[in-house]
Amino acid sequence: MKIQKIETFQVVWDTVLGNRPQRSAFVRITAEDGTTGLGEVSPMSLGLPSLSLIVQDIAPKLTGISVFDHAVGLERELHRLIKLGPEGVLSAAIAGLDIAFWDLKGKLLGQPVYNLLGGAWRRRHKFYASVGNIDRRSIDDLVRFVLKRVETERPAAVKIRLDGDRTGQDVDIAGDIAKAKAVRKALGDGFMLGFDASNGYSVGGAMQVGRALEDLGYSWFEEPLQHYHLGRTGEVAQRLDITVSAGEQTYTLQGVAALIEAGVRMVQPDLVKMGGITGLMQCAALAQAHGVEFVPHQTQPTVGHLANLHVLSTVMHAAKPAELADKWERALCVFETPGAPRDGVFTLTEAPGLGLVINEQELERRRVAITA
Ligand code: CA
Repeated sequence: MKIQKIETFQVVWDTVLGNRPQRSAFVRITAEDGTTGLGEVSPMSLGLPSLSLIVQDIAPKLTGISVFDHAVGLERELHRLIKLGPEGVLSAAIAGLDIAFWDLKGKLLGQPVYNLLGGAWRRRHKFYASVGNIDRRSIDDLVRFVLKRVETERPAAVKIRLDGDRTGQDVDIAGDIAKAKAVRKALGDGFMLGFDASNGYSVGGAMQVGRALEDLGYSWFEEPLQHYHLGRTGEVAQRLDITVSAGEQTYTLQGVAALIEAGVRMVQPDLVKMGGITGLMQCAALAQAHGVEFVPHQTQPTVGHLANLHVLSTVMHAAKPAELADKWERALCVFETPGAPRDGVFTLTEAPGLGLVINEQELERRRVAITA
């Protein structure tokens, strides 16, 4: 079965990010019998750099190859174009194509992707609510917002994120600790909590906040330092008792290996940024080999989220819930699956491929084709 066509497009949502409407970036692969697979690339810069790279450079090389040569084809393209830098634009393009290939293969073989990956330990997935911009919220506003999400979505855990503009450092340590305290008090002892520093601290700042989070019973402390300070992140991870996590800005398997070697004990690669389903499975194996936790980053509520759940279904140890970022409701108008969580759980069906159910009419209305 050969690849006949590869298309790229964005979907425009009603929500706003910065000062423009949010968009998701997709790639669709059509086989010669008309069966299609859908993949998603990282939405950084609206996904345009990766989608353009697919259209101009990668799609012409993949058209005509066998669907079942997909990993060989993508590895060849990664290495052919590696001087672009193997991270970011190129790795996200490969990731989106990989996801589309798995969706397509599942449909051609009449099997859900998790079966093709070796079978599911579980199809029901709890999730954590990721709550952003806490640096811009007052304590009262933050607590109100967290309680509302907990009440309506029933997450198994909550992560609060600093966000910020990533140029500041140790901007308001006392305020950050006060917010972590207020959320713990509002949700009570025993509720699983994570704190995401979004790269906002120095080593000293991270140690101070990390110790406070330990006292408050937080379960993990995410990206305390800039991601490029790998050695220092490892130092903080080894000195603190709380689990320090990182990896959402790591775009290669080798990069994830380096994080683990530095001392990080929970890795968070993201399958729309690096590797797709194939790459994330490799990261899961790497984490298992080294005895570190594997809790993928995932903030895209449609294809990325569903592909992530397929991988998580196949992972034996999944002690922490899957990520669900704010504003996920934007996609409900187009994507009937994954849809909304029910009773705090997303359940994968036995439908072939990723099991996406799409309102094609609404998709067409919101679709912007990327042709160059
Ligand atoms: Ca994060």
